This record gives sequence, structure tokens and C-alpha cells, in this order.
Amino acid sequence: MSNPTVENVVIIGTGCAGLTAAVYTARANLNPLVLEGPLPGGQLTTTSEVENFPGFPEGVDGFQLMDGLRKQAAKFGTRFEQAQVQAVDFSALPRKLMCGDRTVLARTVIIATGASPRMTGIPGERELYGGKGVTTCATCDGAFYRKMEVAVIGGGDSAAEEALFLTRFASKVYLVHRRDSLRASKIMAERATSHPKVQMVWDSVPVEVEGVPQGAVSGLRVRNVKSGAETVLPVKGVFVAIGHVPNSAPFASALDVDENGYFVPAKGSQVRTKVPGVYVAGDCADHVYRQAITAAGMGCQAAIDAERWLAEHGG
Ligand code: NAP
Repeated sequence: MSNPTVENVVIIGTGCAGLTAAVYTARANLNPLVLEGPLPGGQLTTTSEVENFPGFPEGVDGFQLMDGLRKQAAKFGTRFEQAQVQAVDFSALPRKLMCGDRTVLARTVIIATGASPRMTGIPGERELYGGKGVTTCATCDGAFYRKMEVAVIGGGDSAAEEALFLTRFASKVYLVHRRDSLRASKIMAERATSHPKVQMVWDSVPVEVEGVPQGAVSGLRVRNVKSGAETVLPVKGVFVAIGHVPNSAPFASALDVDENGYFVPAKGSQVRTKVPGVYVAGDCADHVYRQAITAAGMGCQAAIDAERWLAEHGG
């Protein structure tokens, strides 16, 4: 019987961190295998214009940026496979990645699984998710709300960006935030709050998405946290933009994670873990910066560390 293939480097995830790690390890002739999850290209593919990625003075479309990065990784020999890692065994070498009925074996592993949108959990949200009016992606779904009123929930850069993007289509955008000032950067906050189509709904938490019996969003009930008063915003679309949850669950028993599920790297490194040859990169391991460029930087660090580890341990 032939020995099962042991990969030099398996990279899990195709966002900025994973694909940057792929470019570096492929250029180092390590023949990396990238396992691709449910959102190829990661979060940037759901963003419109990226204005702060270095080297693009006019901004760059998020999808195009990721498409270019993928082509760059493929050019140097990166292999891509669709696979969802469900569990791991890092207790011995080679490391084992269990993906359904198949197990991938690897000398080094770079986990770059990113983060998924956080949901509010209010009644109606889950029932009306998808084509029924609740969504987490204005870039994907904004055009369906031409001349309609919509609500965005959240107060960070994502919420401000979603609200501004939606002004292209919607007749009015309510930006519902639980405090009286936005967490978003100054420039984004100013753009959102001063836009004539954006109406701020301060100090308010969402209570219920209305429309379950009809199967389509008919309104968003919100409660003012100072007065306790409830009102229904007459919207047809609800865009949830309240941050993200790291995709670390399949690895959490083998590696250190904090109370919110973010990977905690080994002391003295951003990307090394307590398991030799296993690295973390990008939003699954970074709750502080969470930028495309910092994710790419971590992917680069993990790739260089993996390359050195293989050189020392006979890759
Ligand atoms: P975020 O900065 O964590 O903001 C989440 C927002 O949702 C906060 O305003 C928070 O309120 C609110 N929130 C959280 N849980 C809530 C709940 N259960 N109910 C109601 N509101 C809730 O997340 P983000 O906006 O997705 O941004 C993530 C990172 O990506 C940030 O570092 C951001 O700068 C970056 N980003 C950058 C850009 C850009 O530069 N163009 C664009 C998008 C994102 P509180 O403020 O009260 O905590």
C-alpha cells in the first residue's frame, strides 16, 4: 500500500492572510495546499471600495484585490481544494486535519480561517435571513433595495461603510446604534452622519425584525435605551453590521483561544502557536487591528516561520 501524501504546508482559508501565506510559501517552492472554505476570498470580497490598502491611491475593489491575490498565489504553484476542516489532531507529526470523510496530513499548518459576521439574536433575524430581508452584506444585497427604506445595525466602520454604500440605492438608511457616538473612524463617522440619506437612530437597540408571518421584512422594532420607548422603523431591509466572531471552533481544543474564541499565539510571536509548525494568521487571531493589510502581514510572518521550521526539521 502506498504511503499517504504528507503536505509540506496546508493553509486553511483564502482571505488576505491565507492567500498571502500561499504566495510566500509557493515562492519558496513548498508547493502549498490551500483548503478553501464557504466564502472564497474572505471578507474583502463582500466589501466595495478598499481605500486604505497601500499602493492603490484611487482605492481598489475588494473582490478584484482578492482575485489578483489568488492569481498571484496560483502563478507560483499554489494548489486549491474545497474542504471544510471539522476537527484536528495536532498531538503528533504529521498533523491531521479531518475534513468530512477525508483526512489531510501536513508537516506545517497555517490557520487563516478569518471571522464570520456576529448576529444580534433578536426574534425574526434568523427567520428572515437571506432573501427575506435580513443580511450582513450591503455589497451583495444592496441593489435589491432600490428606492426602499433600510436599516443598518451597528456603530463601527463596517456599519458606517454599509450605510454609505446603501445610500446609492435606498431612499433612506437608518443607522441604529446602541450608544450616542460611533465607534467608526472619524472620517467614516463624519461621512455617514452627514449624509442626507442617513438618519441616525442613537442610543437604540434592535428588539425584533418584523415580518415573519409574511416571510419578508416589514419593519425593525428598536428600543431607546435611555427612554425605554419602542418604535418600528418602516424598513424592507435590515443589514446587521455588529462585528465578527472568529472561526476557531474546529481547532479550539488543540490550541489556546481567549474567551471570545480568538487564537492566542505563543509568547514572543504573533503567529506561532504552542504546537510546533502550526501557525495562525489574520482575523481569527487578531481582535485588535483586523485590517486587510495586517492580515496579509500575519500571513507573511506565518509563511516565513513555516519555511524556517521545515528547513530545520527536514521539510
Ligand atoms: P466593530 O468595530 O467591532 O464594531 C461593532 C459595532 O457593533 C460597535 O459599534 C458595537 O457597539 C456594535 N455592537 C456589537 N454588538 C452589538 C449588539 N449585540 N447589538 C448592537 N450593537 C452591537 O466591528 P466592525 O465595524 O465590523 O469593524 C471591525 C474592524 O474592521 C475594525 O477594526 C474596523 O476598523 C475594520 N474595518 C475597517 C474599514 C475601513 O477602514 N474602511 C471598514 C470596515 C471595517 P459599541 O460601539 O457600543 O461597542
